Amino acid sequence: MKILRTPKELQAYRKDLRGSVGFVPTMGALHKGHLSLIEKSVAQNDHTIVSIFVNPTQFLPGEDFEKYPRRYEADKKICELAGVDALFMPEASAIYEKDEVLIKAPSQKGYVLEGHFRPGHFDGVLQVVNKLLHLANPHRAYFGKKDAQQLFLIQKMVREFFMDTQIVPCEIVRDDDGLALSSRNLYLSPEERQKALLIPKSLKRAAKLIQSGVIKTSSLKEQMLQILRPLKVEYVEIVDRKFDAIDDIRIGDSIILVAAYVGQTRLIDNIWI
Ligand code: AMP
Repeated sequence: MKILRTPKELQAYRKDLRGSVGFVPTMGALHKGHLSLIEKSVAQNDHTIVSIFVNPTQFLPGEDFEKYPRRYEADKKICELAGVDALFMPEASAIYEKDEVLIKAPSQKGYVLEGHFRPGHFDGVLQVVNKLLHLANPHRAYFGKKDAQQLFLIQKMVREFFMDTQIVPCEIVRDDDGLALSSRNLYLSPEERQKALLIPKSLKRAAKLIQSGVIKTSSLKEQMLQILRPLKVEYVEIVDRKFDAIDDIRIGDSIILVAAYVGQTRLIDNIWI
């Protein structure tokens, strides 16, 4: 497996590749969620490039940029074993210049839900994903449904900028107890982890209620908030696949999203109905 440190190295490596290229951008501290994206890319492409970059521009002041877990040696091994061909691990100084040309997330869909509570977060996400897609120039790029709004906005950017990459959405990977895997789960104490299970529990309850015929999103949200009461909830929202709020569930076109703090740790999760 090649380790690439600079945009120049990645571009030179990419130039010589023949056949299809899959790309999996991550912030590292890799877990089975990331691995599922990587495995899909390895299965579907002749070459797979993974990036590990804790992107400073998508963290707001006061967020966890400094303490975000960095586990480069373990990550390298995971990638190597999974059959990754090249790992791109740049320094921020190699990616960003001063006073850059900026990409702005759309003023509506980029500033609701996650974008409301983390204003500017998606500007940073799109800025870096735009750069990474240009560098890796992949046929396919893999993103988790765990970050549903991010996935939506990246699909939108790729379409609107006429980029020649297929965005492949990947299912959410959960621990046996139901908690969606996240690098931030490393912050949780054993007690907090138990408490965090209320999040998947609330989503499962909503899915069950929908199965039993409840379709009013206001009733579903109310029931979920009951379950989530011990947590500091930022939002429980139900949207369609275009991220417009909806009054009634439409099977095959609805996403139920939660963001909540468990102690100091902010977690997000969702299910696609
Ligand atoms: P991150 O390192 O958190 O930026 O995530 C990198 C990619 O992995 C993103 O496309 C995430 O949506 C995806 N991802 C993170 N956690 C999971 C999970 N539990 N299941 C599936 N995909 C995930």
